[in-house]
Amino acid sequence: MLKIEHLGIAVKELEQSIPLFEQLLNTPCYKTEKVYTEGVNTAFFKTGESKIELLEATNTDSPIQKFIDKKGEGIHHIAFEVENIEAEMKRLSALGFELLNTTPKPGADNKLVCFLHPKTTNGVLIELCQEKQ
Ligand code: ZN
Repeated sequence: MLKIEHLGIAVKELEQSIPLFEQLLNTPCYKTEKVYTEGVNTAFFKTGESKIELLEATNTDSPIQKFIDKKGEGIHHIAFEVENIEAEMKRLSALGFELLNTTPKPGADNKLVCFLHPKTTNGVLIELCQEKQ
C-alpha cells in the first residue's frame, strides 16, 4: 500500500462540519461530491499528502446513517492508496480478509474503491483506493 490516502469521518451535517474542519485544518474544502450508490454526500480537505473525507448520509438506509445511529459521529474508515486495486484485492482475499465488494467500484474523488469488512480487520473499516486512469 502506498500511503494513507484519506481518513473518512462520519458527520451528521456537512453544513456544520465543513466550516468546522476548515477552521480546524486551516484549509478550504476543495470538493463536495454526492455518491449516489453509497447514499452519501462527501466533502474533501487536503492535509499535506493525505486528505480528510467527511461523510454525511443522504437517506436513512445509508451505511453512514447506520454507523452514526450505532456509534455516533467519528472516524469511519481509513483509506489506503494502492497501485493495482485488483491485485491487492486478490492478495488480501487469499489471506482471509473479507472484501465487501468483489469487483472495484467507483468511489468519490475519481477513485476505484473496495472496502474490507471490519470483522476481519480488528474492527476498522478499511478502504482500498486507486486513482482512476
Ligand atoms: Zn473514503
